[in-house]
Amino acid sequence: MRFDLITIFPEFFAGPLEHGIVHRAREAGLIHTHIQDLREFTKDRHRTVDDRPFGGGEGMVLKPEPLFEAVESLLGRSIGDASEQNGKDPSTAIVLMSAAGRLFDQEAARRYSQLERIILICGRYEGVDERVAEHLATEEISIGDFVLSGGELPALLVMDAVTRLIPGALGNEASSQNESFSSSMASVPFSPLQAKQGATNGMLLDFPHYTRPAEYRGWKVPEILIGGNHAEVAKWRRAAALEKTRRNRPDLLSRG
Ligand code: SAH
Repeated sequence: MRFDLITIFPEFFAGPLEHGIVHRAREAGLIHTHIQDLREFTKDRHRTVDDRPFGGGEGMVLKPEPLFEAVESLLGRSIGDASEQNGKDPSTAIVLMSAAGRLFDQEAARRYSQLERIILICGRYEGVDERVAEHLATEEISIGDFVLSGGELPALLVMDAVTRLIPGALGNEASSQNESFSSSMASVPFSPLQAKQGATNGMLLDFPHYTRPAEYRGWKVPEILIGGNHAEVAKWRRAAALEKTRRNRPDLLSRG
């Protein structure tokens, strides 16, 4: 799988690409990452990527030309124009990072992990000329209901979430099947009591994890986890995951 990140700050990515699972996946050839400096697609002496907004108002807006040309150069084909827009390639997503986009979630990460290529466009300033969202990007994605100063962190976050779902990227495959937002967490059979409490559908967060020491500053690890009775452990984990979901994310329980 290949990730292309289009940015005005190429150096931004040096650290994050060289740690942990993303680093290992690159080394193993499971993913290829390419950082594309947007300014390579400017033609003036100042390498201008932004301009003032039509209609007035604060801040600057990323111009469409460098972004369209950067993507076309990466794809090796033309996107077209208003009179004739070329078809999309279903194996490639062109994703605009945007606070005004659709919310990114684990399901989107799973869908992306099936693709061959993702081009991530990082906005800056007040944002990006809307023609990029409408005619260049195949999707416009937000990583949460807050506004950041640029799309670089969001793009890294998407890349991280997708990479760890690629077969072979995690040391232990079970890790990505049995965690928060995974369908297997959602489909664990509940006891009749839990079902009555409203856990028949929706998604669960991960259950709490503990490691040694069994007692730390007087705070003890739940006894059941130490006992070694697998059925009891599984039951405790389901109940604890449900309790934690109800406390932190009650909205997940009501999702069908
Ligand atoms: N004026 C815009 C915010 C621009 S922030 C608005 O009010 O919606 C500058 C850039 O940061 C955006 O173009 C986008 O690429 C990125 N960004 C900011 N918040 C984001 C979020 N929650 N998710 C994804 N990208 C975000």
